[in-house]
Amino acid sequence: MPKPTATEEQKIPDSATRNGSILLAEDSPVYRQLISAHVKEWGFDCICAKDGKQAWKLLSKQDAPRLTILDWVLPEIDGVDICRRLRGRSEDDRYTYTILLTAKNRRHEKLEAMNAGADDFLAKPFDPLELKARLQVGQRIVDLHQKLVSVNSALQFAASHDFLTGAWNRAEIVNFMRRELARARRDATPVGIVLVDVDHFKKVNDEHGHETGDIVLRGITKRFSDSLREYDGIGRYGGEEFLLVIPGCDLSTTVRRANQIREMIASLPITTSSGQLSVTVSMGATVGDSSSNSEFLLRHADAALYEAKHKGRNRVEMRIAHTSGDVRR
Ligand code: GH3
Ligand code: MG
Ligand code: MG
Ligand code: MG
Repeated sequence: MPKPTATEEQKIPDSATRNGSILLAEDSPVYRQLISAHVKEWGFDCICAKDGKQAWKLLSKQDAPRLTILDWVLPEIDGVDICRRLRGRSEDDRYTYTILLTAKNRRHEKLEAMNAGADDFLAKPFDPLELKARLQVGQRIVDLHQKLVSVNSALQFAASHDFLTGAWNRAEIVNFMRRELARARRDATPVGIVLVDVDHFKKVNDEHGHETGDIVLRGITKRFSDSLREYDGIGRYGGEEFLLVIPGCDLSTTVRRANQIREMIASLPITTSSGQLSVTVSMGATVGDSSSNSEFLLRHADAALYEAKHKGRNRVEMRIAHTSGDVRR
C-alpha cells in the first residue's frame, strides 16, 4: 500500500480508530449525504436509516450503534418517539446516546425532545464543527458507560466466584442450591448434592509447597467442570472442600456420577511444576426432594463425607435425608 501523502495524513483524525459507529436517521437525501460524509471524515462508521421504522429496527439489534443522530420529522416513527422508545427499554448493559438534529428550534420543542430522553439537541442548519464536538461528548459518555458496565460485571464476578479456582464461592453455590431446591419443590424433581474433600491435602502442601497445592485445587476444579453439565453447580465450599449441585439427579444417579468424577480424579494425575501429582478425593452424597432444606442436606452430605474418610478415603458414601430428620443409609 502506498504511503499516504502529507495532506491525506492531515485528514485522518487522531481518534479515527477509537470511534465507534453512528446511526443516522434522516429522510432528506441531501442532509443524509452531508452528515454521513462529515461523520465518516471524523472517524466514525455511519449507518443510515431513511425513516424511523428502519432506524428502530437497526437500534433493536444487539450490536446496534450506541451513538445516534436523529432527525425529528421522519416517516413512520419520528425522532422524538425513537428517544422515548430507547428510554423505555431496560438497557442495563448499554446506553444509546441521542442527538436530535432538527429544523424545529423553539424553546418548547427543545424541552419536549429533552423530556422524551434526547441527550442533546442541535438546530438545522448546523455548524459541522459543533456537531463534531457534540459527537465527541457523546462518544465519551458511551465509552464511560461501557467502562462502568465492565467494572460492574468484574465486581459481580469477584463477589460470586472463588479467586483461586474460578468456581463459585461458598455463598454463591449455597444460593444456587437453594434456588434449585425451590425449583425441585415446584417441579417435584430431585437435586443431587455432593460434598467433596481432597484426601491428605496437607501432605501435598507440605511436600510440594503451597503454590503446587493451589495448582492441584485448580486441576480438581477443572476435572469437575469437564465432567459436569452446564446447568450443574460447582462451588468451593472451604479450603480444599467443594460442593457439587446436580439438578434432576436421584440418589443412585448422583452416587454414580460422583464415583465417575472420583475415579477420573484418581486416575488422571495433575500436571504441576513439581511434576505429575496423583490425588484422590472423598465424597458425601445426598439428594434433596420437594421438602428438604439446604442446611439439613448439607449436614447429611457432611456426615456421609465423614464416613467416606473414616472408611479409608477415595470413596463415595451416601445418606438418605428424610424430612423427619432421621438419617438412614
Ligand atoms: P483429609 O484426608 O483428612 O481431608 O486430610 P487433609 O490433609 O486434606 O485435611 P486437613 O484438614 O488436615 O488439611 C487441609 C489442608 O488444606 C490444610 C490447608 O493448609 C490446605 N488448604 C486450604 N486452603 C488451601 C488453599 O487455598 N491452597 C492450598 N495450597 N492449601 C490450602
Ligand atoms: Mg425529516
Ligand atoms: Mg477438609
Ligand atoms: Mg482434606
